[in-house]
Amino acid sequence: MSNYRAGVGVQCARCGGMMDPSTATYDKGGNLMCRSCAALVTIAEGDQRAIGSLVSSAIAVPALGFLSWTCVNQFALVSILTLASGVGWILMVARADEYRRRMGGKFVPCLVGVIIGMLMGLGPLMLLGLNVLFSVLRATR
Ligand SMILES: [Zn+2]
Repeated sequence: MSNYRAGVGVQCARCGGMMDPSTATYDKGGNLMCRSCAALVTIAEGDQRAIGSLVSSAIAVPALGFLSWTCVNQFALVSILTLASGVGWILMVARADEYRRRMGGKFVPCLVGVIIGMLMGLGPLMLLGLNVLFSVLRATR
Protein backbone atom coordinates (compact mmCIF):
# COMPACT_ATOMS: atom_id res chain seq x y z
CA MET A 1 0.00 0.00 0.00
CA SER A 2 1.01 3.62 -0.30
CA ASN A 3 3.52 5.04 2.13
CA TYR A 4 2.50 8.57 1.29
CA ARG A 5 -0.64 9.04 3.35
CA ALA A 6 -0.65 12.44 5.00
CA GLY A 7 0.44 12.50 8.62
CA VAL A 8 2.08 9.08 8.45
CA GLY A 9 5.87 8.87 8.73
CA VAL A 10 7.86 7.17 6.01
CA GLN A 11 10.94 5.10 6.59
CA CYS A 12 14.21 6.37 5.14
CA ALA A 13 15.70 3.90 2.68
CA ARG A 14 19.23 4.56 3.97
CA CYS A 15 19.14 4.95 7.73
CA GLY A 16 15.74 3.39 8.37
CA GLY A 17 14.66 6.37 10.45
CA MET A 18 11.13 7.69 10.27
CA MET A 19 10.64 11.01 8.53
CA ASP A 20 8.04 13.37 7.27
CA PRO A 21 7.47 12.48 3.61
CA SER A 22 7.10 16.14 2.68
CA THR A 23 10.76 16.83 3.58
CA ALA A 24 12.07 13.66 1.97
CA THR A 25 14.06 13.52 -1.24
CA TYR A 26 14.76 10.69 -3.64
CA ASP A 27 18.12 9.07 -4.15
CA LYS A 28 19.34 7.92 -7.57
CA GLY A 29 17.56 4.61 -7.18
CA GLY A 30 14.26 6.37 -6.57
CA ASN A 31 14.16 5.50 -2.86
CA LEU A 32 12.98 8.04 -0.34
CA MET A 33 15.71 9.49 1.87
CA CYS A 34 15.50 11.71 4.90
CA ARG A 35 17.12 15.11 4.74
CA SER A 36 20.28 14.19 6.66
CA CYS A 37 20.92 11.17 4.46
CA ALA A 38 20.41 13.31 1.38
CA ALA A 39 22.99 15.77 2.72
CA LEU A 40 25.46 12.94 3.35
CA VAL A 41 24.96 11.64 -0.18
CA THR A 42 25.58 15.12 -1.58
CA ILE A 43 28.82 15.43 0.39
CA ALA A 44 29.96 11.97 -0.73
CA GLU A 45 29.22 12.85 -4.35
CA GLY A 46 31.16 16.09 -4.00
CA ASP A 47 34.13 14.16 -2.62
CA GLN A 48 33.87 11.66 -5.43
CA ARG A 49 33.97 14.53 -7.91
CA ALA A 50 36.99 16.02 -6.15
CA ILE A 51 38.80 12.67 -6.33
CA GLY A 52 37.81 12.34 -9.98
CA SER A 53 39.21 15.75 -10.86
CA LEU A 54 42.35 14.97 -8.86
CA VAL A 55 42.85 11.83 -10.93
CA SER A 56 42.20 13.58 -14.23
CA SER A 57 44.52 16.47 -13.38
CA ALA A 58 47.18 13.90 -12.48
CA ILE A 59 46.73 12.36 -15.93
CA ALA A 60 47.00 15.82 -17.51
CA VAL A 61 50.55 16.30 -16.20
CA PRO A 62 52.22 13.44 -18.17
CA ALA A 63 50.03 14.40 -21.16
CA LEU A 64 51.44 17.93 -20.99
CA GLY A 65 54.88 16.47 -20.40
CA PHE A 66 54.52 14.54 -23.63
CA LEU A 67 53.38 17.68 -25.45
CA SER A 68 56.52 19.40 -24.16
CA TRP A 69 58.48 17.27 -26.63
CA THR A 70 56.39 18.33 -29.60
CA CYS A 71 56.41 21.54 -31.61
CA VAL A 72 53.55 22.82 -29.44
CA ASN A 73 56.18 23.68 -26.85
CA GLN A 74 56.92 27.17 -28.14
CA PHE A 75 59.24 29.09 -25.82
CA ALA A 76 58.97 26.13 -23.40
CA LEU A 77 55.55 27.38 -22.34
CA VAL A 78 54.13 23.85 -22.23
CA SER A 79 57.07 22.76 -20.09
CA ILE A 80 56.40 25.54 -17.64
CA LEU A 81 52.71 24.67 -17.63
CA THR A 82 53.57 21.00 -17.00
CA LEU A 83 55.81 21.83 -14.06
CA ALA A 84 53.29 24.28 -12.64
CA SER A 85 50.43 21.76 -12.77
CA GLY A 86 52.67 19.02 -11.38
CA VAL A 87 53.73 21.17 -8.45
CA GLY A 88 50.11 22.29 -7.95
CA TRP A 89 48.92 18.70 -7.88
CA ILE A 90 51.55 17.61 -5.37
CA LEU A 91 50.78 20.58 -3.13
CA MET A 92 47.09 19.74 -3.30
CA VAL A 93 47.47 16.10 -2.23
CA ALA A 94 50.13 17.02 0.32
CA ARG A 95 47.60 19.28 2.03
CA ALA A 96 44.68 16.82 1.92
CA ASP A 97 45.50 13.59 3.70
CA GLU A 98 41.93 12.55 3.28
CA TYR A 99 41.99 12.72 -0.50
CA ARG A 100 45.16 10.68 -0.55
CA ARG A 101 43.46 7.99 1.53
CA ARG A 102 40.29 8.02 -0.57
CA MET A 103 42.19 7.75 -3.81
CA GLY A 104 43.46 4.45 -2.45
CA GLY A 105 45.18 2.40 -5.15
CA LYS A 106 44.94 5.29 -7.60
CA PHE A 107 47.22 7.53 -5.57
CA VAL A 108 50.59 5.92 -6.34
CA PRO A 109 50.04 5.58 -10.13
CA CYS A 110 48.82 9.20 -10.17
CA LEU A 111 51.86 10.40 -8.24
CA VAL A 112 54.19 8.42 -10.50
CA GLY A 113 52.41 9.88 -13.54
CA VAL A 114 52.80 13.40 -12.20
CA ILE A 115 56.51 12.90 -11.47
CA ILE A 116 57.17 11.35 -14.89
CA GLY A 117 55.19 14.17 -16.49
CA MET A 118 57.25 16.77 -14.64
CA LEU A 119 60.51 15.12 -15.67
CA MET A 120 59.28 15.02 -19.26
CA GLY A 121 58.37 18.69 -19.03
CA LEU A 122 61.71 19.51 -17.47
CA GLY A 123 63.72 17.91 -20.30
CA PRO A 124 63.07 20.50 -23.03
CA LEU A 125 63.43 23.27 -20.48
CA MET A 126 66.92 22.02 -19.60
CA LEU A 127 67.79 21.64 -23.27
CA LEU A 128 66.63 25.20 -23.82
CA GLY A 129 68.72 26.32 -20.86
CA LEU A 130 71.78 24.50 -22.24
CA ASN A 131 71.17 26.05 -25.65
CA VAL A 132 71.04 29.50 -24.17
CA LEU A 133 74.14 28.75 -22.09
CA PHE A 134 76.08 27.50 -25.11
CA SER A 135 75.08 30.41 -27.29
CA VAL A 136 76.14 32.81 -24.55
CA LEU A 137 79.47 30.96 -24.24
CA ARG A 138 79.93 31.06 -28.00
CA ALA A 139 79.09 34.74 -28.12
CA THR A 140 81.62 35.62 -25.46
CA ARG A 141 84.40 33.71 -27.17
ZN1 LIG B 1 17.99 8.69 6.57
